Amino acid sequence: MTYKEKIKLPSKFENFTENKKMGFLKMKQLKESGKKVAGVFCTYTPLELVYAADMIPVSLCATTEDSIKYSEADLPKNLCPLIRSSYGFAVSDTCPYFYFSDIIIGETTCDGKKKMYELMSDFKNVHIMQLPQNNTDPLSLKLWINEIYKLKRVLEENFDVEITDEKLKKAIKDGNEERKNLRKFFELGKLNPSPLSGVTMSSTQDSFGFNFNRKEKNEMIVKKTQEIYEIWKKEFKNKKDKRPRILITGCPVGGVREKILTTIEKAGADIVAYENCSGVREKLTLIDENIENPIEAIAKKYLNISCSVMSPNKKRFEDLDMLIDEYQIDAVIEIVLQACHTFAIESTKVKKFVTEKKHKPYIYIESDYSMNDIGQISTRIEAFLEMI
Ligand code: SF4
Ligand code: SF4
Repeated sequence: MTYKEKIKLPSKFENFTENKKMGFLKMKQLKESGKKVAGVFCTYTPLELVYAADMIPVSLCATTEDSIKYSEADLPKNLCPLIRSSYGFAVSDTCPYFYFSDIIIGETTCDGKKKMYELMSDFKNVHIMQLPQNNTDPLSLKLWINEIYKLKRVLEENFDVEITDEKLKKAIKDGNEERKNLRKFFELGKLNPSPLSGVTMSSTQDSFGFNFNRKEKNEMIVKKTQEIYEIWKKEFKNKKDKRPRILITGCPVGGVREKILTTIEKAGADIVAYENCSGVREKLTLIDENIENPIEAIAKKYLNISCSVMSPNKKRFEDLDMLIDEYQIDAVIEIVLQACHTFAIESTKVKKFVTEKKHKPYIYIESDYSMNDIGQISTRIEAFLEMI
């Protein structure tokens, strides 16, 4: 089974660029029908509040180099490309999703992002949530609950809606359903051999985000998971595959998908799991539906996300431990976007954990959205895979 044969299977299911384009049209129609849109940049955004306000959330994290030039007048060059690219689209008004957003919900995660929101608020309606940087101190939870109440008030006042407990509880239920379905989709990677390429896994998951009808989206996730599983049972189940199974960790990877992820798979490995914002991490913990106060339940879930902006960040290592075992990982590749200090510094601990505790090979790759370093990255990846 070659890389090409394998990638052919799932690519007929989803086309990321096509879905993104279709998403623009769908959103235009929704806006014309009076729907309000909240632009978001981070996994910490409590989407249940947005849904309970009868609004549509849309991710604005940009993944292309093209828009970076527009950010250069305002932002320094040595900043994470995700921030520069997202801000470039915003300030030049060249992203339809940003244009359609009635409010931007930001959080104080990393320094670059929180200062970018300040600049953005000069030309857009931006609400910034103060995210605590420690998720074990009980006072952090109190602060975060308060921030979620504040967001509730902001949405109610801005859009003349009432966010009731009933609406929040329904949004929690729907959100949990979606998480469970997406978790099953990602768990296709546990199959051996894995039925879909990691590149496709990541672009398909991003494509799901361009369907703004929640019910339809959930049905689509379930259907595609089932279809892929059926094909695996028929065509892949009994085939032996010696390709090393890779776990990707670190920063979000949408902007380096072609450059790094495709290179890894072309060099002969299988990406079977993502321990980052582009993968299963956020889906691992559900919101507790038994907690009486829905705001408290939402706060507990989101504060528990294991991004490197938290200090300390113990849960990331628990997640890595479990994912390496359950997905039968042979090696870990950490991808860090240029100038992302929290992930870059935390990588010292990740390397130690992976190599000394899990006894697996590990490589650290730092890059940006340009294609300038593709030759050097290919050489390093090939050498790394040969060693496994
Ligand atoms: S990596 Fe961290 S800060 Fe960036 S989107 Fe994910 S949770 Fe948010
Ligand atoms: S990748 Fe790192 S620097 Fe970039 S936005 Fe996310 S946390 Fe911030």
